[in-house]
Amino acid sequence: MTHATNTHYDAIVVGSGHNGLIAAGYLARADKRVLVLERRDIIGGATVTESPFPGYHLSTCSYVCNLLLPEVIRDFDLVRRGYEIRPFDPTYFAPFPDGRYFISSLDSAKTREQIAKFSSRDVAAYDAYWEMWDRILARMQPLLRQALPSENEFAAAFDGVQGEEDWHTLTRASIAEVLDRYFESDQIKAPLSTGGVIGVNAGPYDPGTAYVKFHHLIGNVGGHQGAWGFVRGGMGTVSRTLAEAGEEWGVEILTSAPVAEIDIADGRARGVRLEDGRRFTSDVVLSNADPQRTFLDMVGSRHLPSDYVSGIRAIRHKGSVVKVLLALGELPDFAACPGTDVGPQHTGGIVINPSMAYLDAAWRNCQAGHPSRRPFMDCYIQSATEDGLAPEGKHTMSLFVQYAPYDLAEGTWDERRDEIGANIVATLAEYAPNITNAIEHIQVLGPPDIERTIGITGGNIFHGEILPDQMFTGRPVPGYPSYATPVDGLYLCGSGAWPGGAVFGAPGRNCAMQVLRDIS
Ligand SMILES: Cc1cc2nc3c(=O)[nH]c(=O)nc-3n(C[C@H](O)[C@H](O)[C@H](O)COP(=O)(O)OP(=O)(O)OC[C@H]3O[C@@H](n4cnc5c(N)ncnc54)[C@H](O)[C@@H]3O)c2cc1C
Repeated sequence: MTHATNTHYDAIVVGSGHNGLIAAGYLARADKRVLVLERRDIIGGATVTESPFPGYHLSTCSYVCNLLLPEVIRDFDLVRRGYEIRPFDPTYFAPFPDGRYFISSLDSAKTREQIAKFSSRDVAAYDAYWEMWDRILARMQPLLRQALPSENEFAAAFDGVQGEEDWHTLTRASIAEVLDRYFESDQIKAPLSTGGVIGVNAGPYDPGTAYVKFHHLIGNVGGHQGAWGFVRGGMGTVSRTLAEAGEEWGVEILTSAPVAEIDIADGRARGVRLEDGRRFTSDVVLSNADPQRTFLDMVGSRHLPSDYVSGIRAIRHKGSVVKVLLALGELPDFAACPGTDVGPQHTGGIVINPSMAYLDAAWRNCQAGHPSRRPFMDCYIQSATEDGLAPEGKHTMSLFVQYAPYDLAEGTWDERRDEIGANIVATLAEYAPNITNAIEHIQVLGPPDIERTIGITGGNIFHGEILPDQMFTGRPVPGYPSYATPVDGLYLCGSGAWPGGAVFGAPGRNCAMQVLRDIS
């Protein structure tokens, strides 16, 4: 839409990321008049499908889905609207420099056969490893679905000796420590470890990275706990179907409508002013933007308690991820598993991380301000199992790459983007030598590009690190609620709120429930 039908609404939502759309939809379903204002000319935030190259359709940012709440899928009737997710299988293919590979499958018997190639002891450990995660998941699931639980509620969920051990694992352990408890083989540990560092500025030996791994196991796709899936049409389908449901319930969505300021009078949010000067008033304002953008840019520190402002400033929010989008003339031909016809090495995740030391070295480079000399990569070729994403005979490929700092120690992103992209491709070529010539188009998005394009301050994919000190009662600011803010009538409904980022929907849903409780 280009014009709103009113100037006053029950609720204004700033931003049309999936959390904003979910919050807006729940409010409209409860008969509230809702206006969503999006700065970009398309909806979806980091949950979009775009066509960076003619004839190719790629998920620009998020590319696979695990966490999207089943409640949201049901309440928004997403399946009827065209949301279709398929768990990919194998779950990942990990090639190693010595020509061997490990393939993990949805079928655990097949995975065990693969583990046996490296260690029979690790086969026996596999079940115990998953039992530990299942226990922690069972303790945490209810707490993810409520407005910031109290410390007592967390303590009750992790009661007893086993509970305390699980709490320690979840909040203190590094992913390396957890994997060392169960496995001996580096080839098993290395691909399992990457989930512990996705999106964060931390290495596999850093305490708290076990929490990041947990975060990536929360969802269940196709009956497989922790499995991830491709959404047909790319991640934009999530936003499109959420928006469709919301609009049916009466949500109005304005794109190309950047909000400059949240209007506050007498300590209460009264509406917003757009960059073009237009004003809309509302009873409540929900911000789907990240905490820095919301409170430091759109609200302004003069309206906030000083400890809240310092809390927002203290959020670690710099990204470490490079997203590379590729258009391929042919599929990668892996030395460890040759062939350019579609095979299991192409249809699921492809993990380039041959050892724990490799991942640690990649992080150490970033810690010193440099892009990883040899980065780890989480790669997907969605077109290998789905028509319509690339021209006949061609393929899309998405590389989620770590690490590269937002602030480079040498040079700027504009000066170094191509070089950083070339190094990523060269690293992949060590495993699939044909990739260099197979690439017909490439787009490289570093943290500042994600910031500029998607509007996430610092380019942090989760609106702030999801390490334990920034989760639980510390999100977004210790000592303050997660959705309600110090400004009456202003709420935070994006990934900067509990329980954090990813295509999840929990912050948007929990926030909407809180707003409905407050205004009814
Ligand atoms: C490169 C990358 C890869 C990722 N991969 C995955 C993945 O595979 N799977 C997964 O689950 N998660 C992934 N994530 C994380 C996930 O995509 C995000 O955490 C999540 O989408 C954030 O959703 P959100 O609704 O909270 O906020 P966002 O999607 O960031 O939406 C916020 C919206 O607010 C808008 N906005 C900001 N300021 C204003 C303003 N002043 N006025 C109006 N509008 C404004 C923005 O334009 C944006 O549309 C990835 C993220 C990135 C960046």
